Amino acid sequence: MMTCSECGGRMQQEVIETYRDAHIGIPVVLKNAAIRRFCTDCDNDIIAVPNMDELVAAAAIARCLMPVTLCSHEFRFLRKALGMTGREFAELTDNRPETVSRWENDAQGTGGVTEKLVRQTVCERLKTLAPAIDYEHGVIVNMKLVHRSSASSELPPLVFELVLIKFKGYETPRKARHWDTEYIERVA
Ligand SMILES: [Zn+2]
Repeated sequence: MMTCSECGGRMQQEVIETYRDAHIGIPVVLKNAAIRRFCTDCDNDIIAVPNMDELVAAAAIARCLMPVTLCSHEFRFLRKALGMTGREFAELTDNRPETVSRWENDAQGTGGVTEKLVRQTVCERLKTLAPAIDYEHGVIVNMKLVHRSSASSELPPLVFELVLIKFKGYETPRKARHWDTEYIERVA
């Protein structure tokens, strides 16, 4: 049994069926994964999201696989998912820091080959953290980017769940839970 850190009372926990998270940088919905811990005696009530780094990686890759062009805050989200400063990200993608700053602040973003390079970089660097997401090398290069209908229109949140993956090639089979997304709209 868990004890409340506030009052010493009894803590209970439940898995939240549908949890919308707004903290990671783009909107996501988590199915049967976020855990609510609450005290039965006081108002101590916390929500915990498991495998947070992996969720950020999975969300970044899933977003990169959607053909709708990235807006400025999505660019910033992708850079942060890589754990990079603007300067580091500029160096990595062969751009000037001012250019990266513009991508992250202009509503218009960039589009075209540059955006594909950014997406490709994100996917290749983060794919080991998100083995359940269906990403194949080369898919970004062949992707046809499409502009969103209006600059202000937000994409629907990506929906994630934790799935059990079995890794082969070990003496004793290894299983681990990883984030998967129910649906990625690949075609506009
Ligand atoms: Zn309490």
